[in-house]
Amino acid sequence: MTYAARTDHLQAEGAYFVLAKAQALEAEGKDIIHLEIGQPDIDTFESVAQAGIDAILDGRTRYNPPAGIPDLRRAIADDVGKRIGVSVELERVVISPGAKPNLFFPTLAIVEPGDEVLYPDPGFPSYAAMIGVAGGVPVPVPLVEAKNFSFDLDVFDDLISSRCRLIILNSPGNPTGGVIPSSDLEHIAKRAIEHDCWVITDEIYSRIHYLEDEVPSIYSLPGMDARTILVDGFSKTYAMTGWRLGYGVMPPELARRVMLLATHAYGCTAHFTQFAGLEALHGTEAQVQEMRSRYQRRRDRLVSGLNELPGVSCELPKGAFYAFPNIQSTGVSSSLLADRILQEAGVALLPGTAFGAGGEGFLRLSYATSMDQIEVALERLAVFLAGLI
Ligand code: PLP
Repeated sequence: MTYAARTDHLQAEGAYFVLAKAQALEAEGKDIIHLEIGQPDIDTFESVAQAGIDAILDGRTRYNPPAGIPDLRRAIADDVGKRIGVSVELERVVISPGAKPNLFFPTLAIVEPGDEVLYPDPGFPSYAAMIGVAGGVPVPVPLVEAKNFSFDLDVFDDLISSRCRLIILNSPGNPTGGVIPSSDLEHIAKRAIEHDCWVITDEIYSRIHYLEDEVPSIYSLPGMDARTILVDGFSKTYAMTGWRLGYGVMPPELARRVMLLATHAYGCTAHFTQFAGLEALHGTEAQVQEMRSRYQRRRDRLVSGLNELPGVSCELPKGAFYAFPNIQSTGVSSSLLADRILQEAGVALLPGTAFGAGGEGFLRLSYATSMDQIEVALERLAVFLAGLI
């Protein structure tokens, strides 16, 4: 049998690959600390789970509108509008099973074969995957450690051209935890307008940050709501990864096209999940704040511990739940080091290169795990690195 070339480039996410390896070691009786997985370590908040259960028992188990139920679309429009300081109309909101379809479908609706797409390197692996499926030309833009993992704007300016159709941003970022400052967003917005490009801003970690103010969004800059897709969701903020609930906010004509792609691809998002989403938006603010403070304590401990290790230096991430230490002084490649740390120290983490060539020289550690596990991981890393260097 033969296959269409458009899926030839697709690969599994690095996290799943490392998880499978770690589980094989566990099956042999080895004790592994899991710092590879990018999901909250807590269960979905009880009131949210209960709202989902109640909705199932109330018969909210049938087809519903492809773009989502109006009550949740309105609640999302209000929530996003309030957080980023703009008014958002309901018809701009498309609800989806997780955030991913709202990355994929707008890309399919925007990018013609041969169009260039700028995206962060290292960055979330689905960006390169969806650009490839759309037939676009991937143009990775390096993130710069010294700029807290934002773009070097001179390099960005060199890479953007009339061939660019779409720019993808991710702030707070996976895998780096970097937050793009307002001044950089203003520069990028200016270039997007000059070159008539669309922008996808992936803000799935928007509520997980350690700043006094909200994370700035390019969507709120003048003129940008006509060319921007803001993507966010419930997976990280409300510990709902398996419920599959996300959304995009975009110009109405693009929303109509994305809604039609949804209609023909998966039909609709689960009805009861959306009722759980309503409860998450309305009834969990204190728990979200609590979760954020817990991540902040873990971040502070992990990053200070990493900075004491030989051959390691780590910037303090401003958001998400990942540390992205620089391991260049060890003289070992990211993938070899990550593999040896798993095999010899029993700590599962990801090589920076699981997120693109720009991740060479770095590792990604998720601190969405207990403080105890972080302490043990740091002890094991200290012993391993002392033997290596
Ligand atoms: N965007 C980024 C940057 C992510 O890290 C993830 C999940 O890890 C997603 C999008 C996907 O979110 P969801 O599980 O809601 O589809």
